Amino acid sequence: MKGLFAFFLFFVIGSAMQAQTSCGTKISQERFSYEMNTISERSSTYPRLFKTLSISAYIVNSPANVPAVSLETVLLWVDSLNVVFAPLELSFEVCTVVNVPNHKFYNFDRALEEEELYDVYSTPGTINIYFLGSILDNVSEEEDVHADGYTYFPGGDDLMVLSDPKEIIHQMGHFFGLYDTHETDFGEEHVLRNNCETTGDLICDTDADPWTDFYEQPSTWNKTTCNLTEAVFDAQNQFYVPQMSNIMSFWDPCRCYFTNQQFDKMAFEYLNNRNYLR
Ligand SMILES: [Zn+2]
Repeated sequence: MKGLFAFFLFFVIGSAMQAQTSCGTKISQERFSYEMNTISERSSTYPRLFKTLSISAYIVNSPANVPAVSLETVLLWVDSLNVVFAPLELSFEVCTVVNVPNHKFYNFDRALEEEELYDVYSTPGTINIYFLGSILDNVSEEEDVHADGYTYFPGGDDLMVLSDPKEIIHQMGHFFGLYDTHETDFGEEHVLRNNCETTGDLICDTDADPWTDFYEQPSTWNKTTCNLTEAVFDAQNQFYVPQMSNIMSFWDPCRCYFTNQQFDKMAFEYLNNRNYLR
């Protein structure tokens, strides 16, 4: 019941947030090659994992010495995380909470400060999550970009940085190997799903998503009904009907679920690449 309540709050809080979603998780060349080499290995029915993983939560204080989030807020979002991941029998528990008084990390410069933060504040074998005020994400961009959160795909560090705590769910999808539904690094996915295994998010039961076209004009979709208000066409002249409720989309505040094949992919990644977590 507590979980359901948290899930409800997930929508309420999500609806109240007007800020544009911005995700800083990036696909490395190694990750790209890994995906191209393992497409045929994934199972089509995910196993239940029956596993609880430990989260180490680091809450950074502002220059005025105010924590970036309260512990209650952290626990609320971990409850929401557990509701969303329940079909996989994968759950998360906050095992350590550390208040970080070193407020220079509060307005966090990813390129300059990530290594130091992770060296000083991390617990091996756990998912290390840092809650702080803002993220300057200029790793591979020419201009400064601020992110709501980022993490690393399997094979990378067990690290997640959040300036918006509700991003924990989307980022946990990345942490277990999911891509944004509108991802184009692997190529542009067609609405007809005739190239869905090797383009977009590499997953076929998530529809092609034209988010990138909307980044500059968010008023063309309805945040209450979660519908596009104009027809947008792909390269084959089919109009997009994206899953605006999919957690790996950017159609915040509509997001609330993963698909079966997204669970398949996360189970595969957990068993093959993240099974050292305790
Ligand atoms: Zn993302």
